[in-house]
Amino acid sequence: MSGPANVEGVPVDTRHWIDGERVESATTFEDVSPIDETVIAEVSSGDVATASAAVGAAQSAFPAWAATSPADRAAVLHRIADGVEARLEDLARVETRDNGSLLRSHRRGVMPRVAHNFRYFADHLLTLSRDDFDTRGHRNHVSWDPAGVCAIITPWNAPLMLATWRIAPALAAGNTVVAKPPEWAPLTASLLADITAEAGLPAGVFNVLQGTGTLAGAPLVADPRVRRISFTGSVPTALSVGAAAAANLTPVSFELGGKSPLLVFEDADLDLAVDLAVEQFDNSGQVCLAAVRILVHESVMDEFTAAFLNRANRIRQGDPREEATEIGPLVSRDHFDRVAGFVSRAQRGGARVVLGGGPNDVLGGLYFRPTVFVDMLPGSEILCEEVFGPVLTLQSFSSEAEAVAMANDTDYGLAATLVTGDKARAERVSSELSAGTVWVNCFFVRDLQAPFGGNGRSGIGREGGTWSFDFYCDVKNTVFAPNGWS
Ligand code: NAD
Repeated sequence: MSGPANVEGVPVDTRHWIDGERVESATTFEDVSPIDETVIAEVSSGDVATASAAVGAAQSAFPAWAATSPADRAAVLHRIADGVEARLEDLARVETRDNGSLLRSHRRGVMPRVAHNFRYFADHLLTLSRDDFDTRGHRNHVSWDPAGVCAIITPWNAPLMLATWRIAPALAAGNTVVAKPPEWAPLTASLLADITAEAGLPAGVFNVLQGTGTLAGAPLVADPRVRRISFTGSVPTALSVGAAAAANLTPVSFELGGKSPLLVFEDADLDLAVDLAVEQFDNSGQVCLAAVRILVHESVMDEFTAAFLNRANRIRQGDPREEATEIGPLVSRDHFDRVAGFVSRAQRGGARVVLGGGPNDVLGGLYFRPTVFVDMLPGSEILCEEVFGPVLTLQSFSSEAEAVAMANDTDYGLAATLVTGDKARAERVSSELSAGTVWVNCFFVRDLQAPFGGNGRSGIGREGGTWSFDFYCDVKNTVFAPNGWS
């Protein structure tokens, strides 16, 4: 039976949240903590009936919420942000226990960002406008109408942060939401439901459907009453979500995987380049944006490699609740086996391990050592497929043109990072890279007003700032004739 679980001293209700009430399913699934592989909660397992009930509640709540003034909607979103800030420590502790990412990151960066997601989109809503424009004396006026029920499906690597930067604009725009949290880290969504209720969000405007992708997620995205699907996750799942959406012509926003490059030119600040390369192991490499293919100019390859391996070898791996820990475990046994499979296949294919290469024998459990490969065969799996673990590849290039060609030699296009001391080169190379985000001499600087998304297999569409409202709204152009009014 699902119900209240006690996670790190925090009570968490693990039932669905539908129409302002806790709803139980006949069956549950086990939520296992990656820190020690113990079961920390039994969570309600949604199905066709619960998905339908959640969409029905969201549809019933839609007209009143859509008719609520933008100022009143924004006020509720700010109260949700207040609630997130008030419960920041609880959210941080539960998230760390649930997905194994660093407690100190949640306290200092991630959970404050969750609150900011609500504040930013609340404020942006109130300034959302485009200047009217003229067509032969006719006045064009653009407005953003709420679209209806939005299904928001998110992965486990940054569960609450990724969910709320979709939930916030969807709600701000006047839509209602059914969120389907990841089954490997479902708990903070449940706490968010409590926070939205305390903030005065009307019943049915925000709903949480717990469960697996197959049993709960699939019927949710196939429901014709859903008018937007925002999906963050893997390419194979996106293919099936996309097929379901196509059957109903439901617009989708897809934020998918990556195989992003980090380019280190001969004129780079090598200390900075090493710092940025080591950062790619953050969250045990379970970051869609991670620059996992490190490409270095041949003239600085030896110097860079020595400094990088020296630093990476000293990464402190351990319990993510401890302040000194730099990286924790992988999220689950299934995922651990998947990452280990990539590493052993790469070795069998001739790639050479120069760091790590397997489980952390001292820590045991789901702790996989930071791993670096060299000598990969062109086109090999480890260079092409997303591992989503602490596994990087190191290659050299001899010219700028070759660097760009290697960087773009991927089916993905989420992000790219380059390190150079030459401004003209930075501008030239960044314009030639195929990626939704390019960072020059920095990494992971993300502003909510910036467009975010990927090219190719990294996704469809952009979210962030006005792009979010473009997606979550039916954008309308009204044309007024020049003749006077009677
Ligand atoms: P996943 O695709 O397995 O699952 C993502 C979500 O989809 C989960 O909530 C899951 O329950 C749900 N789901 C699964 N099958 C479904 C179905 N048939 N219908 C509807 N929903 C379904 O991905 P994951 O393993 O949880 O996450 C890792 C992936 O997410 C990686 O590829 C990573 O790159 C990507 N990711 C992308 C971004 C981004 O912003 N681009 C951010 C984080 C993670």
